[in-house]
Amino acid sequence: MNQKNQHDVIIIGAGPAGSTTAALLAESGRDVLVFEKDKFPRYHVGESMMPFCYFTLDRLGLAGKMDEIGFQQKYSVQFATTDGEVSKPFYFFQHKDCPSTTTWQVERADFDNMIAEKARENGADIREQHKVRDLIRDENGRVIGVETDSANGREQHFAQIVVDASGRDAVVSSKSKWRRRDPELNKIAIWTYYEGAMRDPGLDAGSTTIAYIPAKGWFWYIPMRDDKISVGVVAERDYLYRDGLRDPKEIMDREVLENKWMEEHLSVGEQVGEYWVVGDYSYRAEYCAGDGVLLTGDAFAFLDPVFSSGIFLALKSGELAADSINAALDAGDTSAGQFTEYGEQLCEAIERMRKIVYAFYNENFSFAKLVGKHPHLRPTLTDLLIGDVFVDQFDELFAAANEICELPDTLDYGFRTTAAEKEAAMMA
Ligand SMILES: Cc1cc2nc3c(=O)[nH]c(=O)nc-3n(C[C@H](O)[C@H](O)[C@H](O)COP(=O)(O)OP(=O)(O)OC[C@H]3O[C@@H](n4cnc5c(N)ncnc54)[C@H](O)[C@@H]3O)c2cc1C
Repeated sequence: MNQKNQHDVIIIGAGPAGSTTAALLAESGRDVLVFEKDKFPRYHVGESMMPFCYFTLDRLGLAGKMDEIGFQQKYSVQFATTDGEVSKPFYFFQHKDCPSTTTWQVERADFDNMIAEKARENGADIREQHKVRDLIRDENGRVIGVETDSANGREQHFAQIVVDASGRDAVVSSKSKWRRRDPELNKIAIWTYYEGAMRDPGLDAGSTTIAYIPAKGWFWYIPMRDDKISVGVVAERDYLYRDGLRDPKEIMDREVLENKWMEEHLSVGEQVGEYWVVGDYSYRAEYCAGDGVLLTGDAFAFLDPVFSSGIFLALKSGELAADSINAALDAGDTSAGQFTEYGEQLCEAIERMRKIVYAFYNENFSFAKLVGKHPHLRPTLTDLLIGDVFVDQFDELFAAANEICELPDTLDYGFRTTAAEKEAAMMA
């Protein structure tokens, strides 16, 4: 093995999950090599943040930088019914007045680049335009490195642990056939951008609006910097593709007419750029880790982003990954069993978000109904929606939601590592 190509940690992907893991591990003095297939800054969807992103950004030393860069501040979320009635903005600071209650709408090219630059500043070696094409395993199946393709040709690189942070490409899950779709949450999304569309005044200028369409579909309306609005529609495939329509622009234009608030807000704007479509909306990997390999961010799990949980879970899982890898490297053991707590913590948090996402899509459920029946649970609901989901505090809320609609069973995969699987096989 070439000593030059041996590292403590190799990370696949420099999105929020990969760069957070890289920044924190490099800060701890680890030798970190990141492969990113694209050239940064690069476009990425997923622009609306959740308040609890603040804590990871703060740990990275980047919370102050968010306003320096000038990302649109987001103080609230509001909901618009199909006939155009809009709820009062739901201000995060009315719940807990602390820095974490202001959040942002971000151009991902700039946001992701900011974290990647931080990782570089901390000493991580990030190689752009290097695509990981395969994992390298030893004779026992343990991951010991990766093979990359770049302008340099094909190369092999080795590490004590490989982190898969490749987003929805999910390199490890795809190669190991670990990817499992959520049983119900299989929506599709179509999105594009507008300039000059209507924006609410003052504090509400950066508010996310979730605007309903029939059949429990919804629009996101995300006001960003420079008079730009990100607009997307999410619903069941059959609903969006009804009447034989396939062209994303035609579908979007038709759906805008299904919501008076959207129609009014977009009527003064001009659509710019292309239309994007994504399917296969929610999934989770069978395992969170194997020997020598750990999964983070969307490479591990993707949850329907109706409550803007994606960046938050990417940042937080990146942070948890860095902490558990540091402990594993200190112990001189990066086998799967070292990551049991990581998988459990992450899945418990994802399950809490997943329950409320399921409720959102249920015909019987509405937040007004839930809080109307149980007003004292409003703060707990807010805790959930701002991302305070790594704390076990929601039993009463979920019991109350269950009175209105059936919440999903906890998925029985994802939280385990392959170590648990091997053990179970030996016991059988
Ligand atoms: C339609 C839609 C709307 C969304 N809206 C929101 C939202 O409003 N708010 C929110 O918080 N989240 C949203 N999300 C989710 C959010 O975009 C993701 O959760 C987030 O980007 C995950 O970060 P990540 O670092 O795990 O992955 P990514 O950000 O996807 O980063 C992965 C990186 O890995 C690189 N990569 C991939 N394969 C390889 C390879 N083989 N070799 C090397 N590099 C590789 C990619 O180029 C990429 O840079 C949305 C998602 C979708 C699909």
